Amino acid sequence: MKGAYHRLTLKLSGERLAGEGGFGINPAAIADVAKEVNAVHEMGVQVAIVIGGGNIIRGVAASAAGMDRASADYMGMIATIMNALALQDSLEKTGLDTRVLSALEIKEVAEPYVRRRAVRHLEKGRIVIFAGGIGTPYVTTDTAAALRSAEIGSEVLLKGTGVTGVYDDDPRENAAAVRYDKVGYDEVLHKNLRFMDQAAIALCRENHLPIVVFDMNVPGNIRRVAAGESIGTLVSD
Ligand code: UDP
Repeated sequence: MKGAYHRLTLKLSGERLAGEGGFGINPAAIADVAKEVNAVHEMGVQVAIVIGGGNIIRGVAASAAGMDRASADYMGMIATIMNALALQDSLEKTGLDTRVLSALEIKEVAEPYVRRRAVRHLEKGRIVIFAGGIGTPYVTTDTAAALRSAEIGSEVLLKGTGVTGVYDDDPRENAAAVRYDKVGYDEVLHKNLRFMDQAAIALCRENHLPIVVFDMNVPGNIRRVAAGESIGTLVSD
């Protein structure tokens, strides 16, 4: 099977790597993701991954529980680096060549993020894992995914979620919620449809970067989306 894209960014939330109760790192879950990423690579697609940290800590939740927001956010960024190393290990076990590029400097375990270097790695067929978000608090890895996609010239941002796409209401609370096959950025922002941070969506709109929102918990879906199958919701102009 051939890929529908030359270069794509996959936003993987920490939840996808989690063990029991959505917490921690589950080697079996990561191995599944790694296999799918390998299949996408085999399709001739350059793959960059922005990894989340919500399976370990989310700044907003920790600050709601009384912690200083910026400190909690830095912990969240460090969590993404842990996830990135776990994912790197799993990807390499499938035979892929990988690099972790971190927005927070942590030289012993990851390269610092340098845009040109990221592009070079991709051109050489390496899987690039972006860790540490964008390196500043008060945003999430969704914003990092939108920003890095624009910087490295990805044709699409694949946003894996826990539901099958973008709905007109939360499908977990409203059984009558309807899923969009396609929806525009403006409608998403106007109706405040929540599948990603508004800041991230606005960045995608500004850069005409299409987003495919799909259920990342269904095995094979990452491969299907990369092959151009219309599953989930396409968000575009
Ligand atoms: N974070 C941050 N700056 C960034 C990226 C992430 O402060 O550029 C922090 C923020 O606290 C966030 C946490 O890291 O909640 C984990 O990332 P995220 O919530 O995006 O993970 P996901 O939900 O995708 O697993």
